Amino acid sequence: MKYFSTRGGSQELSFEETVLTGLAPNGGLYIPTSIPQLPSNWKSEWKDYSFVDLSVAVLSLYISRDEMSEAELRDLVTKSYAGFRHPEVAPLTKLGEKKYVLELWHGPTWAFKDVALQFLGNLFEFFLKRRNGLKVERSEPANEKLTVVGATSGDTGSAAIYGLRGKTNISIFILHPKGRVSPIQEAQMTTVTDANVHNLAVKGTFDDCQDIVKTLFGDNKFNAKHRLGAVNSINWARILAQTVYYFSAYFHARRSLGLSENEEAQLQFVVPTGNFGDILAGYYAKKMGLPMAAKLGVATNANDILARFWRTGRYEKVDSAPAAESAPSMEPAAGSSDGKQATDSSGVKETLSPAMDILVSSNFERLLWYLAYENVPESESDRRGKAGEIVNGWMLKMKNDGCVEVPTAVLEAARRDFCAERVSDEETLETIRSHFTGAPSYVVDPHTAVGLHAASKMAQHNAPSVTQVVLSTAHPAKFSEAVSKALQSVPDFSFDRDVMPGEFKGLLQKERRVVDVEKADPELVKDVIENRV
Ligand SMILES: *Cc1c(COP(=O)(O)O)cnc(C)c1O
Repeated sequence: MKYFSTRGGSQELSFEETVLTGLAPNGGLYIPTSIPQLPSNWKSEWKDYSFVDLSVAVLSLYISRDEMSEAELRDLVTKSYAGFRHPEVAPLTKLGEKKYVLELWHGPTWAFKDVALQFLGNLFEFFLKRRNGLKVERSEPANEKLTVVGATSGDTGSAAIYGLRGKTNISIFILHPKGRVSPIQEAQMTTVTDANVHNLAVKGTFDDCQDIVKTLFGDNKFNAKHRLGAVNSINWARILAQTVYYFSAYFHARRSLGLSENEEAQLQFVVPTGNFGDILAGYYAKKMGLPMAAKLGVATNANDILARFWRTGRYEKVDSAPAAESAPSMEPAAGSSDGKQATDSSGVKETLSPAMDILVSSNFERLLWYLAYENVPESESDRRGKAGEIVNGWMLKMKNDGCVEVPTAVLEAARRDFCAERVSDEETLETIRSHFTGAPSYVVDPHTAVGLHAASKMAQHNAPSVTQVVLSTAHPAKFSEAVSKALQSVPDFSFDRDVMPGEFKGLLQKERRVVDVEKADPELVKDVIENRV
């Protein structure tokens, strides 16, 4: 299997090159030359597979055997999920007759990004070690290394840190705005004391941190010297790792619904969406042949560029937004801290579900490629090249005008596979409340609540036989502000008793390691990196 850029060009990369490169030099994202189809016996063969077995089976379809043996892949996957607290890795919990949540937060940082980042860290390490081994054989210096630099407002920095802690040949530097990250999230990041993990507390805002990271990546000399890398959600390996839980959910749902072998599960997946990575993995699963009885549900918060796209066919940033290039940080906006809906300088709205506060969705470009391709006549001799040209034109227009409108046929194609709903903060709070006071009583985090509320709207268009699976992307303890706000008026509610896992309580007391950066100055950050790599 090879990979090529959504923006065209004849370059084809191996899986290894794709993972280590991240973003294509022409600005595009890498996608596979074809979407592999499931083996004809997958339903019977895979039905009792463990999460690790399923990962090996699905990932093998995308990674050539001459790049990685099955035993090597199994070893990486096993290592990646050994630290998950639940034996099923991503269990399915029943909330209603036709409603399940897929709990993706049993990893080390209690959020779904662990599923992909635990694997990505092991992949990086595997490839770098192998490259260095080959260099040693040729009597060359074993100098293959990676320096990951990113900015975080708290939500996802910890998942990257936990994915890369202790990895050979890799250092990670995560910048956060000092004092502006929630205590739990700050503790999650700074209590990782491995020698290759560096937390930088920058006196400034999240935007300052993001600007510094952008400056570093733009500094060719510095970049080349340290081989800077990003672990943001455009990396193909992250999408790939996330396809697996759609399959595990399918099999769990079949068992839970008590279906016989010749009955098909009638499922709809609904996904709280920001950068479109999580739901895109579901699109790949569907294109591979996983049965989905209803459209994939895109659930957005007030940052609703995607919901607007499915309504209008226009992919546009908010009006009058200055063209903000997405920096190689892991999340594009600061979290809300005062509950009011503020808009930051780039036009991103601060909501109660901060990990979905985005202006544009980086992985949406991958879907656009498939939509463009479908719309190129089959008679066209270079259909792939043509699709790349179209996407390139759209993204250029997006960059220059902040808006692009796709042809009706393209919108129709998008509507065949997806539906979309936008959910407000008020609806998010109400959803957290109704699930806590409902039966079974269940505490959801605000991102999952966005998914659940969108799902209830989408259910109105579904056939009665459809069962919904809402992807639950974080444990509620990570987002105490929204959860407390929603439940404080419920008699007898106690955050400590009803939400906080024991593991979290000890975290605040643990030893920390953090470097203070006294000014939001890229030179100061460069010094820290030079001194510590
Ligand atoms: C990152 C994140 C999301 C959004 O996922 P995308 O892949 O960016 O669409 C949703 N919820 C939580 C808790 C997240 O951390």
